[in-house]
Amino acid sequence: MKMLEEKLKIDKISKGTVIDHIDAGYALTILNLTGLDESKNLMTIGVNVSSKKYQTKDIIKIENVFLNKTQMQQISILSPNATISLIENFKVIEKKKVKIPKIIKKLILCVNQTCITNSEKEPIDTEFLVLEEKPLKIQCVYCERIYKLEEIVFTSKEKKEKKVKQRIKL
Ligand SMILES: [Zn+2]
Repeated sequence: MKMLEEKLKIDKISKGTVIDHIDAGYALTILNLTGLDESKNLMTIGVNVSSKKYQTKDIIKIENVFLNKTQMQQISILSPNATISLIENFKVIEKKKVKIPKIIKKLILCVNQTCITNSEKEPIDTEFLVLEEKPLKIQCVYCERIYKLEEIVFTSKEKKEKKVKQRIKL
């Protein structure tokens, strides 16, 4: 019985990406923030899967999709323990462990309206210093505002929302 359960959970994909060891409960957030939720490819999402290493974890499998650098960085911020495996012909051809950068550039918005990164005349790219990885604590290097994980707004996410807003306007 145990064997059968395991098999169902780790059903192999022929080609694509497996994001494993995601912090439990973060799979849907990752799909949303990386924009992967807009993909038309087959996805398998496991939430609260039992794990030897971390008790429970989430796992995402996406057929025929390989992640770009930005998406990997976003995942590293949301789930620093995640591993990303690239699959071809049912085999893992590459396995990467995400690593959160010491400084996060451009990926995240500073919501402080008076921050220089939001200046209307000469907006500059955002830059955040990672103070703590887990639980995440980052600080805007310009206005020194500190953010926790749940307060983070990704720049790509904002673009997406703007698009939606424009669509509604039309
Ligand atoms: Zn700022």
